[in-house]
Amino acid sequence: MRYLLTCTRCSSKYPKSYNSQLCRCGGILEVRYKKVKLPEKGEEFWDFEGALPDGKYLKYELGGTKLIEAMEKGLYLKLETGNPTCSFKDRGSAIEVAKAAEYGYREVVCASTGNMAYSIAYYARLYNLHAKVFISKGANRDKLANILSTHRAELMIVNGDFTKAQALAELYAEKHAAFLAGDYCYRKEGQKTVCHEILAKLPEVKNIIVPVGNATLISGVFKALAEAKTAGRIRSLPYIIGVQSTRCMPLVRAFRRGKGIKYEKPATKADAIAVGYPTFGEQAIDAISKTKGSMVSVSDSEMAAEQLRFMEDYGLVAELAGVASLAAFKKFKPRGTTVAIISGGNV
Ligand SMILES: [Zn+2]
Repeated sequence: MRYLLTCTRCSSKYPKSYNSQLCRCGGILEVRYKKVKLPEKGEEFWDFEGALPDGKYLKYELGGTKLIEAMEKGLYLKLETGNPTCSFKDRGSAIEVAKAAEYGYREVVCASTGNMAYSIAYYARLYNLHAKVFISKGANRDKLANILSTHRAELMIVNGDFTKAQALAELYAEKHAAFLAGDYCYRKEGQKTVCHEILAKLPEVKNIIVPVGNATLISGVFKALAEAKTAGRIRSLPYIIGVQSTRCMPLVRAFRRGKGIKYEKPATKADAIAVGYPTFGEQAIDAISKTKGSMVSVSDSEMAAEQLRFMEDYGLVAELAGVASLAAFKKFKPRGTTVAIISGGNV
């Protein structure tokens, strides 16, 4: 779809030829379409092109991940582990890295706790771009080894957490004319397709439970809900339930307090949601408020127990953050048809 970019901070507008994901004021941009076209029967990622920025894409296999009935009545699991690099991140990278290539960049740079690096390195290779990744010190070493051995990405280990890695990636992009990738506007567009796929199969869903790190996924889910409502595909918005770890829950605290987000040093073992100051935090709180949903937390040990049960019950592998949604379902037992997004399986 044809689109414009608008700044969420100063409201400046940019045409699609604007080759950055940040406004000149430093604010994050948002993709705005005139009209979104949803397919009659969308099953996988590229079926939803009418809800994505127009661009020059290599349409590799993506999305169309399984939605299975869980052991618990009324619960469905959206298995994002079925994407090329085993996490939901691929949906965003498919758009974002394609844009970098379209704008003529030779290099993409991003910050990561692990999954983002894996996904961006994979797509950079498909598009023949060099990938440079700033990784937080506590990142998962297994993921790092995988990236190095498979995708030739250049890794910079940062003596700090994700928030510091992100600041360094932004600085690098500015200094070296590299395309800044990560949790920004184009990623959000790709990631919202997970929700469009869910709604295509379960338009009557009452709750969607989403693990929350940098909050791009949860704000993408809300954007998809709004698009589906405008297109008349759903009558009312399901509740969005965001999940963080009790050892890194800046959005849970902000939601409870009813005011601003404060940085919190991540101490969780669930590396994929170890983000102390989420980029899309305010959008996430807004999404939850508008759907009358909630922000909840689960402990690392609850996730670890769920990870084991997930393997025993389904014979499948998920990472700690990946089953945060399942742990939250069992702990809070929301009423009505519920989808838990199993966000990743890189262990
Ligand atoms: Zn701005």
